[in-house]
Amino acid sequence: MRLARVTKDGKIGLAAKTGDIVTIAYGDDLADLDAHIAAGTLVEAGEKATAGEPVDEASLLFLPPVVRPAKIVCLGLNYRDHAEESGLGIPEHPVLFARFASSLTGHKAPIILPKVSEQLDWEAELAVVLSTGGKDIAEADALDHVAGYSVFNDASIRDYQLRTPQWTAGKNFDDTGAFGPYLVTPDELPAGAAGLKIECRLNGEVMQSSHTGNLIFSVARTIHLLSSFMTLQSGDVLVMGTPGGVGVARSPQVWMKAGDVCEVEIESVGLLVNPIVAQ
Ligand code: ZN
Repeated sequence: MRLARVTKDGKIGLAAKTGDIVTIAYGDDLADLDAHIAAGTLVEAGEKATAGEPVDEASLLFLPPVVRPAKIVCLGLNYRDHAEESGLGIPEHPVLFARFASSLTGHKAPIILPKVSEQLDWEAELAVVLSTGGKDIAEADALDHVAGYSVFNDASIRDYQLRTPQWTAGKNFDDTGAFGPYLVTPDELPAGAAGLKIECRLNGEVMQSSHTGNLIFSVARTIHLLSSFMTLQSGDVLVMGTPGGVGVARSPQVWMKAGDVCEVEIESVGLLVNPIVAQ
């Protein structure tokens, strides 16, 4: 199933995409994917959306698939070429940082270029939403804890990120964590969403191109390692890191400007499009 929390004509609904057909059923409770994941009712909700009325996908405004995860755990330097271009070495342990839900934005919504910086950069990433949590989850069982996958643009304010050792500020500006459009259930994808092409395009020009098989720490290994030190919870989001080709590592450096359009696409998972708008 491919499910999205959307609004149409001011009403909130749950959209389902089956092939090229998009259907919608309305209702705040029905569209509450966080609640369905927690209650284990995602399939039932998806069936209601699939049986809903056909709708023109272009008429929908997309919200992030989940909006109140207990944790958003991001991996840095999780592709070899990006670790190398960053000059920070290949990690032996996952490099982790946190995003907060206040930084999330949806498909087609703007990524905001803030007043205080010009250094707005893109990062194409695979997002993972957990179904059930747990502690000390075995790597072999880890993918049983995945509710679905989606696309993420971990848009980063580089001067704020890199002027201190901790990256939290530069990774948590409002309207920079673009997420969506659809939550895609694992049955639609290869195990661990591995081996899928991942690409970032800025104004149509390819800036990053890799595949998810290049992850240093796979989805299963990441769930296992995280759960070795903290209890994972239903609805937690993991953002799996970005391949090489970010703007900060280019010569000359490239930053996203107001009026730009940034696209992140992961094969079989989706296409996430965001215009850049000045604060
Ligand atoms: Zn990132």
